[in-house]
Amino acid sequence: MKSPAVAKRILDALERHHPDADTELHHSNAFELLVATILSAQSSDQRVNEVTPALFARYPDARALAAAPTDELEAQIRSTGFFRQKSRALIGMSAALVDRHAGQVPASMEALTALPGVGRKTANVVLGHALGVPGLPVDRHVLRVANRLGLTHSADPVKVEADLGALYPPKRWTRVSDNLILHGRRICRPTRPACEICNARKDCDFFISGGAVVKGVGGRARKSGRPGQRRPTRQGAGPPTAAGRDGRKRR
Ligand code: SF4
Repeated sequence: MKSPAVAKRILDALERHHPDADTELHHSNAFELLVATILSAQSSDQRVNEVTPALFARYPDARALAAAPTDELEAQIRSTGFFRQKSRALIGMSAALVDRHAGQVPASMEALTALPGVGRKTANVVLGHALGVPGLPVDRHVLRVANRLGLTHSADPVKVEADLGALYPPKRWTRVSDNLILHGRRICRPTRPACEICNARKDCDFFISGGAVVKGVGGRARKSGRPGQRRPTRQGAGPPTAAGRDGRKRR
């Protein structure tokens, strides 16, 4: 595990890559973000953003969505995948908001995760981005990148959330998650991470170790090379070598 000082240096490095890091789900209030986050499961933010303008216009609040005809709602969200389950979750979640919270989105993890279809990750997204409560969503990108960097050594999202939460002050939790997600999408991709352009590489366990498998979900070994070592690539995204540690492209 990294010290808080190194963890801060890593986050500062990531923020230089992603100064605009934020959720990419379009929303104007906590209810809309809750709906969008439920729809984003097994889908892309871009696809969800294509669906939500018409959805929010048709069902602007929990009362309206709780009363939505199932077949009509399913048709509207079909392109996001798993539309039957998501339709049930949206209607159930909205009905619970009306019944238990006067139609408002509660600002606590306990109350949010008691809603149908709302897990810890979704609750953290809404808390951190729409309700002003520190929240640290852990998705597959956060799992992978945090393990590669050595900020955690766990494949358990709850443990990863706790590890990251202990390294950073609560006021930065949401930024931590946003940066790790964007880094995982844009640079530290599942295969062939672009280490040569990564600002955090000098503190990254995956890079320093030559791409060895990091405990948890950091990465996978290639078949060639010594066990646990990734093969060098033309782009320098593989293990650091004497020529490659400076991150310059080798031709
Ligand atoms: S150095 Fe490579 S493995 Fe480490 S965080 Fe950056 S892109 Fe990911």
